[in-house]
Amino acid sequence: MSETYTALEAFAEAGAYHTRLVQKELRDLPRPAQGLPVVVKVQYTSLNYKDALSAAGHPGITRQYPHVPGIDAAGTVYHSEDPRFAVGDAVIVTSYDLGMNTAGGLAGFIQVPADWVVPLPSGMTLQESMAWGTAGLTAAMAIAKLRANGLSPAQGPVVVTGASGGVGSLSVLLLAHLGYTVWAVSGKPEYHEQLKALGAAECLDRDAVDDTSGRPLLRPRWAGAIDTVGGNTLATLLKACQKEGSIAVCGLVRSPAFETTVYPWILNGINVLGIDSAEYPAPLRQARWQELAAVTPALQADLARLTQEIPLTAVPEVLTQMLAGKTRGRYRVKL
Ligand code: NDP
Repeated sequence: MSETYTALEAFAEAGAYHTRLVQKELRDLPRPAQGLPVVVKVQYTSLNYKDALSAAGHPGITRQYPHVPGIDAAGTVYHSEDPRFAVGDAVIVTSYDLGMNTAGGLAGFIQVPADWVVPLPSGMTLQESMAWGTAGLTAAMAIAKLRANGLSPAQGPVVVTGASGGVGSLSVLLLAHLGYTVWAVSGKPEYHEQLKALGAAECLDRDAVDDTSGRPLLRPRWAGAIDTVGGNTLATLLKACQKEGSIAVCGLVRSPAFETTVYPWILNGINVLGIDSAEYPAPLRQARWQELAAVTPALQADLARLTQEIPLTAVPEVLTQMLAGKTRGRYRVKL
């Protein structure tokens, strides 16, 4: 396997983290420690908040540098030691350790255990798969769990926080497509029109879901939520959720910590649903990708509108903006 490819590498220098484009040799790409390896020639990847953390040296994401971030990749099988995959198969790889401590998708090639590889479902192109990426998978997982816990469109509005972000905007799009009344919470008033075009019934500023009254419970305002920000936003979502409502907890861009009482649980029966896309079991992962593929034809125009396709050279600037909460929608990277 003697091929050269370009990768975006994060590295530490003088106590700070930077990125640079480097040329790498395919034969130097480490084999996975476990499982039968599959080498994928990456055609598209997409940017997620975790990539911004990894590129910035966040020790909870990546332990050793230099490192190639990129928790998503879509492309074709270049080499496989697992009979489930043949050279040329179109595949998606997201989550697990990809882009964390395994060289990630911001590169011409990745090498991963076969169990991480998902065949591209029919109904979706590689390009479309990376409009969804981990953000779309996470949104689909959150919605599946909300529905499994009984949240139906008839029960009332569903709030989506961090709505201009990747997980947020795709959650708005998918929930609206399924007939839910979506209230999109965004700190970007200039993005409200776009959120309405994706299907949001209402757009709220961040401070509309940021209760500081100190009261343990508030007047019920919503039936459920997909939260990507954490902190007092999540505490507020709990307090003002109607009885037997459900909240999917995905993210922490505001804060991983929040204060609450037990009252939302013991007086209102709220379901708090954890979402972990990284270790999501493979059969469920494939089911979610099938669901995304099934709705892709209907949502093609919306996906195209909220996704910017960028080259590898533009990635460092987008990741910096992402950490500052200034990006919007999805960023697909063409390799
Ligand atoms: P993005 O950066 O694309 O979106 C995050 C959005 O959050 C921003 O666009 C912004 O939206 C909002 N935001 C940013 N800073 C703040 C703040 N200080 N207070 C309130 N809102 C803020 O990120 P992703 O969509 O990729 O990820 C969102 C979160 O979900 C991250 O924490 C990520 O780690 C997590 N995640 C978790 C997964 C899981 O498996 N549990 C999988 C994927 C992501 P706006 O301006 O519209 O308010």
